Amino acid sequence: MRALLWFKQDLRLDDHPALQAGLSAECLLPVYVLDPAQLQASAFGSRRMGVHRARFLLETLAALDGELRQRGSHLLVVQGVAEQLIPQLVAQFQLQQVLTLEEIAPDERAQVARVARRLGAVPLQQAPANNLLRVEELPFNLEQLPHVFSSFRALVEERLQVFQPRHAPERLPALPEGVEAVLQAIPSLSQLGLGEPLSVPASAFPFAGGEPAALGRLRDYLWKTQGVRQYKETRNGLIGTEYSSKFSPWLANGSLSPRRVVAELRRHEAQFKRNDSTYWLWLELLWRDFFRWSLLRHGSALFKAGGLQATISASQQIDQRFQDWCRGCTGMPLVDANMRELAATGFISNRGRQVVASYLINDLQQDWRYGAAWFEEHLIDYDPASNWGNWAYLAGAKRAFNVLRQAREYDPDASYVSLWLPELRDVPQALRHTPFLLGGGQLHNLGYPQLESIPESWRPYLNHVA
Ligand SMILES: Cc1cc2nc3c(=O)[nH]c(=O)nc-3n(C[C@H](O)[C@H](O)[C@H](O)COP(=O)(O)OP(=O)(O)OC[C@H]3O[C@@H](n4cnc5c(N)ncnc54)[C@H](O)[C@@H]3O)c2cc1C
Repeated sequence: MRALLWFKQDLRLDDHPALQAGLSAECLLPVYVLDPAQLQASAFGSRRMGVHRARFLLETLAALDGELRQRGSHLLVVQGVAEQLIPQLVAQFQLQQVLTLEEIAPDERAQVARVARRLGAVPLQQAPANNLLRVEELPFNLEQLPHVFSSFRALVEERLQVFQPRHAPERLPALPEGVEAVLQAIPSLSQLGLGEPLSVPASAFPFAGGEPAALGRLRDYLWKTQGVRQYKETRNGLIGTEYSSKFSPWLANGSLSPRRVVAELRRHEAQFKRNDSTYWLWLELLWRDFFRWSLLRHGSALFKAGGLQATISASQQIDQRFQDWCRGCTGMPLVDANMRELAATGFISNRGRQVVASYLINDLQQDWRYGAAWFEEHLIDYDPASNWGNWAYLAGAKRAFNVLRQAREYDPDASYVSLWLPELRDVPQALRHTPFLLGGGQLHNLGYPQLESIPESWRPYLNHVA
């Protein structure tokens, strides 16, 4: 058999079912299609992929190419539309089969279907997706997927799974003859029309893209520093590399397999014992799977203004307040600090994401889908299921976050806002979360925006001294 291996959001060799299926091929052509449409604006005005994720993706592709070369193969990166390019390559190299991983998001599923149609008689074989659980491992039919995470978790946890991911193969089948003529260098950011992002020393995610970096982080977090053993206590942190695992960017583009993460977590627990923290990391990975199954089950309904819970009350307005939020200029320091960190580095903590999303939805009363689209452009770890799922969940939640209370609790000495809002560093520490209490003239001199009005619910937290 002569086969094409179509890489998408699965940019690794470890635990890769489609790659395993291609190992017996007489020749195998690994291909990645870089679609310029990803760099264009969506209906919400934000680009589908911004500079941080693009940089991470290019690093990932270079690393994958390196891994393939070590095994006698190569990655062919082509730019254009998959439904044209994949069938073209199949015809050019007389390939008899296309192997790829299943998709869960509606746009990506539709694209795979278009490619399959264009391939005509050449079969397109899809292996199970990047989920932790396989569909046959779910203890219910997908149509019966619970609406809430707690029920999902209870059902899944009843049947503890053993994950035995397969390691990367040592050798790969040869490339089809004549492929050298079409191999191209992986494009640079400037060739894609993007600038080079500045490296920011305070970034919480200073890591490189690619499978070797992903496996290195997994080793560090579970075995070397064993940060995982304190995860439950640190996971609400805002600053630095160690408050959480930082696995998400690699999980999102598939350079890390969730099954490998859990297999290693189980191995760690067998050696050092399970504790609340190791359990909590497993729970978070289950959240990821829950959102993935929800997306597969409900499809495009997840992207509708009402979200999955049909939150009729969700605002659909969008005005200057949305622009202020994007630029980190709302006048609420915890929100602004997170939004500036996001724009500067492509990463913010889970706590930060919840705070800024709740603020946009509940305090600024803006359409949550614009916020989700802004995240889509800027997050290095953007993933349709986790991003739109979390946003829809917060938009449907009955209770809003009290953002000033969050600031007092999670940034008690104001070190986080001081890090990202340099204009507040000269303000007395006790006022750095409440600069709106200063006179308008003073705020103006600092160059920091005035808050529109102080919500009543903030009153108990206004005079807190750190
Ligand atoms: C509004 C909003 C948008 C988000 N958008 C994304 C996104 O686009 N991509 C993304 O991967 N995560 C998203 N998350 C979830 C979560 O914030 C990140 O997964 C997490 O902060 C990544 O850091 P970490 O890898 O250190 O996570 P850890 O805390 O170490 O957790 C380990 C892993 O568990 C999974 N996980 C943790 N929390 C969640 C969660 N709430 N939902 C789903 N999976 C979770 C992730 O795969 C993560 O890598 C979003 C959360 C919110 C509130």
